[in-house]
Amino acid sequence: MKTRLLLGLLATELAVVAAAAASLADTPWFEHALVGMEVGPTGAQFGHSDTNDTRYCAKFDGREIVRRCVSARCEYVVIWARDGDFAYYDSKLLLKAPGLGTRDPLRETVEEARQHKLPVIAYCVVQQGGHYLAAHPEFEMRDPQGKRIGRFCYNTGYLDVMKQIVTEQLAYGIDGFHIDMVDQGFGPPYGCWCTNCQARFEKRFGKSMPKGVTWDEDWERMLEFRYQASDHFEKALYAHIKALNPRASVDFNYHGNPPFSWEAGQLPVRHADNADFVTGETGMWGFSALTVGLNAEFYRAATPGKPVQVAISRDARVYHNQTVRPLADLRWELLTLLAHSAFVTTVDKTAFDGGLDSVAYERVGEAHADALARRQHFGQQPVAEVGLYFSSRTRDWLGREKPAEYFQSFQGAHKALVYEHIPWGVVLDENVTLPTLKRFPIVMLPNVAILSDPEIELLRQYVSEGGNLTVTGLSGCCGRWGQVQGKSSIESLTGARLVSKLDSLDNWVRFPSSQASTLARQFAPDGRKDWPFLVKGPAMVCEATSATPIGELMRPYRTVRQQQGKEGTEWPMSAEAVVGPAILINPLGKGAVLTFAGSPDFATASEHHIVEARRLLRSAVRFLNPRPRVQITAPTTVESVVTDDPATRTLRVHFLAYNTPPQTTPLERRPYVLPALLEDAPINRVTVELGCPVKRAEAWNQFTTIKRNGQRVEATINDIHEVIVLQY
Ligand SMILES: [Zn+2]
Repeated sequence: MKTRLLLGLLATELAVVAAAAASLADTPWFEHALVGMEVGPTGAQFGHSDTNDTRYCAKFDGREIVRRCVSARCEYVVIWARDGDFAYYDSKLLLKAPGLGTRDPLRETVEEARQHKLPVIAYCVVQQGGHYLAAHPEFEMRDPQGKRIGRFCYNTGYLDVMKQIVTEQLAYGIDGFHIDMVDQGFGPPYGCWCTNCQARFEKRFGKSMPKGVTWDEDWERMLEFRYQASDHFEKALYAHIKALNPRASVDFNYHGNPPFSWEAGQLPVRHADNADFVTGETGMWGFSALTVGLNAEFYRAATPGKPVQVAISRDARVYHNQTVRPLADLRWELLTLLAHSAFVTTVDKTAFDGGLDSVAYERVGEAHADALARRQHFGQQPVAEVGLYFSSRTRDWLGREKPAEYFQSFQGAHKALVYEHIPWGVVLDENVTLPTLKRFPIVMLPNVAILSDPEIELLRQYVSEGGNLTVTGLSGCCGRWGQVQGKSSIESLTGARLVSKLDSLDNWVRFPSSQASTLARQFAPDGRKDWPFLVKGPAMVCEATSATPIGELMRPYRTVRQQQGKEGTEWPMSAEAVVGPAILINPLGKGAVLTFAGSPDFATASEHHIVEARRLLRSAVRFLNPRPRVQITAPTTVESVVTDDPATRTLRVHFLAYNTPPQTTPLERRPYVLPALLEDAPINRVTVELGCPVKRAEAWNQFTTIKRNGQRVEATINDIHEVIVLQY
């Protein structure tokens, strides 16, 4: 029976497979790849490594790398071709890694990959100190005093050198480039004041450069000048590669999302869109468990309609340390990114001699096989209830050299939504439009201090036509250069007048029993009245004009020593006096604006992340959108991601469990601990309730128990990842 069925299917199946293969061959690799690996050596990553140490890369073998990647089910391989010290091929321009001798790993890789029809992408660094920069001071960035600062300047002949380098690599028949480190550094000293830059700046603006970081009109020109330098460099390199081979893909590693700021020289949208697709990174080594999903959605918002690639590390701590993460830990990050519709490169940094770790390839291969089996459930369109608004202008001019304080509000809002299982997306000020806003029933402005007139008009239109806005912190209260204004620029939206900014972060909220309205009951945590609770973060004292005020914002006590400036205020002090309302609700046209005078988002990401502060955001969302399309309950250790396939009327709810075991006291900087590695597949109970009838509900894992009751589905999951598929 089975054989006959198979035979019956064979002819049509073969035709389908052949057609699919033909159409795959026509589309670029990055439009259909799900998983791949990047492989590069360890030992020259800090630059200035010994040029005679023939042990380095002695076993870095392109053929072996390809064979291992194929066995690990990779759909492409990114091979290390150039870093700050060496080329890993026969280059006429660059020093070759000493242990390679006459071998050429790039050629080995391309030849072997051809046997397997595996696309080969060359990894090529732009910005890294090492032998090349040391030999070429004429390409080096300068500080305002003219001192060399250890980075390449993009306004020098280095662009021509980079063009020659990629030309050499392209001649090998590679399928594309992953170009890393197109940054201008991630902190001081800043560049660039070289003679080239000074001349170009004067020509462009008719003025000389500011003498340093001045945060004024001159600095605004300098910021634009820096952004333009990176932008021009990327565009020129992209055009050069495409002129030589239009089929070769180009992607730049991206530094436009938090925690990166103006220092790196990138704007979130302007610099994300300079390639065929954007590539970013996640991982505990530099980010957090929560920002795995956040980064993927940020990249998507920066490059709407394009694929998104994310690189993760196979190492348990950070790249280049040869430790291997447990399978559960790898699966969690990989599947989280796939659920957010990214495709994923797992980075393997080899041993010093270039040898490969068989356990690493075994585990990555197992994670890949598992991901590929679930392939049909990835890549659908995201469903989001709340759009998180990110302002690059606020990043630059409120954040200045301490952008983390601004990021804290944005990331805290994101954290609250993830913990509360409210589907979310990202909205960016650079490319926001009315249709973008209208994708979300609610748009949240987390401490968006600087809003331009066109942005405010767009928000007004969005609300008048039925959208809902949530506003926190200093949103709308700062001028173009980040100074607090006497008047909020969004008073006509919030229906509240700005009285003053509190100079404290340890601010409090209370719902007095004298306010007996159902609204106050809805926002008071667990209905608790007369209890002040800390909502740490920036706060504005407001007075309602047309809005309805709810609850009380309270300022903290200041000890005499604090008033005298002899004691810091980092440690929160208890609530002293009421200074204004905590929440203001203003109906506007067909929608409404809900303003928090304080910052429940900042509080949620802060060290004083009490649950009650976060619940304020949940209450706001449910107040503004009482009947959402999807309502999810799950433990806070589980992230949920919702997607829709309208053509087949299929909603998918992905559940990703981050059940990290407890850690012990760290060696230094108590109490800051790194999270432990995931080892187990946990058991979690979740529910999904749709706002419409459910025709069918299915789970992917055969061991998941699932029960449907009308529009509500309950499931007990025993895995890192599950996807509940709902026909509606
Ligand atoms: Zn320069």
